[in-house]
Amino acid sequence: NRTLKELNFDNTYRQLPDTWYQLREPEPLKNVHLISFNPRVATLLDLDPCQIHPEDLVKYFSGMTPLPGAEPLAMKYTGHQFGHYNPDLGDGRGVLLGEVVNAKGQRWDLHLKGSGRTAFSRFGDGRAVLRSSIREYLVSEAMTGLGIPSTQALCLLGSEEYTRRIGMESCALVVRVTPCHIRFGHFEYFYYSNRHEDLKRLADYCLDRFYPDLLSYENPYLEMFKEISNRTARLVAWWQSYGFVHGVLNTDNMSIIGETFDYGPFTFLDYYEPDHIANKNDDAGRYAFFRQPSVVLWNMACLAQALLPLVEREALEAELAVFSERQACFELERKCARLGLLKPKPDDTDLIAELWNLFKKDRVDIHRFFSDLVDIPLSELLNVTSIVSYFPTQASAFLQWLDKYYQRAKLEAASPAIRRAQMRAVNPYYILRNYMAEEAIREAEQGDYRKVNALMPLLRCPTDLRPEMTSFTQAPPDWAAAICLTCSS
Ligand code: AMP
Ligand code: MG
Ligand code: MG
Repeated sequence: NRTLKELNFDNTYRQLPDTWYQLREPEPLKNVHLISFNPRVATLLDLDPCQIHPEDLVKYFSGMTPLPGAEPLAMKYTGHQFGHYNPDLGDGRGVLLGEVVNAKGQRWDLHLKGSGRTAFSRFGDGRAVLRSSIREYLVSEAMTGLGIPSTQALCLLGSEEYTRRIGMESCALVVRVTPCHIRFGHFEYFYYSNRHEDLKRLADYCLDRFYPDLLSYENPYLEMFKEISNRTARLVAWWQSYGFVHGVLNTDNMSIIGETFDYGPFTFLDYYEPDHIANKNDDAGRYAFFRQPSVVLWNMACLAQALLPLVEREALEAELAVFSERQACFELERKCARLGLLKPKPDDTDLIAELWNLFKKDRVDIHRFFSDLVDIPLSELLNVTSIVSYFPTQASAFLQWLDKYYQRAKLEAASPAIRRAQMRAVNPYYILRNYMAEEAIREAEQGDYRKVNALMPLLRCPTDLRPEMTSFTQAPPDWAAAICLTCSS
């Protein structure tokens, strides 16, 4: 077990050509304080959570004092934003502190988000506000708690520095922790600037670091693309299964290890609405919930394009051609699991589609629907009336569906207790609803961080029922519908 000063840094990205990044010290924020600290993430870095002092987190992550072993740098990348290529991207308000290798040999990037201007800031101030930092901090834990791959967060710092977003807002900083900060846009940078040597070097670096098992194949670059494609298909499938809308699926927000990355105006749908647009700035609805599988495929095609100097076009196209089928397969699998159907059968596709159509017509709160369903024994399924109330305009259609589902579920071998445990594992009591984050933000803006901190354990283990937190298992309050999310962060 180590202290912050003793973190085991081994900074391989720093060894890459210096045209790939800008060395940049973080700019200290005014009057920084600790808002929250995540002991679970600390242990990933071999830190002993009990030995960590809040003053040290503030000192080393606010930029006041250099963290021993860190070599902060802002990464250069580019990407497609809302369908258009933008060559001027990069870490404009963050720095990679370095890579920490733990005793298990796992390598973790430590990144400060909100640490001041860099060479890639353009007109931005280099800062992140409290509102968006709280949302990223909470959702990182919520996603991980759901078992959906995501970047994580070690701690959240607040400050008395202010900047203009939706009016004046205070600045904050998240320490982001993930194995990988390399985006599709890193590859696009070298491709569109015609630097094919650098492109190859980047691909080799990614293979070495993230996909060493693929090096023995005849064409490791193609194998890596397949693996990224596979992970990305699975990731989107899980988003679709839990009503998660990312909000800004630009290629610079796509991780090459298939994690949910770069949180902005994301939403877990309170009520199922496939055409929901999380980001109020997205007028055309390019990133609406139901479009996520197809825009992510579009993003995969951008990555494929950038790999053309390394892999034959036909092979990349063949891989893109199977993406949607694979994505649908993962989606069916997870949606079936939510219903306690662990080995999907051919007819399950229709069963699932029918249920999701019912969800759509009655704008069902799918989180509560599934959570309630877990607690109904199969033998009671056709007698329980409460679950029918989720479908006020389609009671008889739902009952017909329920009958089909009952017949199908009986074919599963699990005992009632096992069935219930298997279903609970994929159907949480708690989901990070917008209003929960919003309440935590409003209180934090008044200097009260209790709600942020109270939500963390709940999101970390969302399938554990907490008697003192039952309000969060209930329907969201009416005012939640008026919450407006934008790119402003
Ligand atoms: P995002 O919309 O957060 O994915 O950011 C898109 C690009 O804008 C990235 O290159 C960011 O680093 C940059 N950026 C976003 N906000 C700021 C800011 N406040 N200051 C400087 N750069 C920013
Ligand atoms: Mg981004
Ligand atoms: Mg961002």
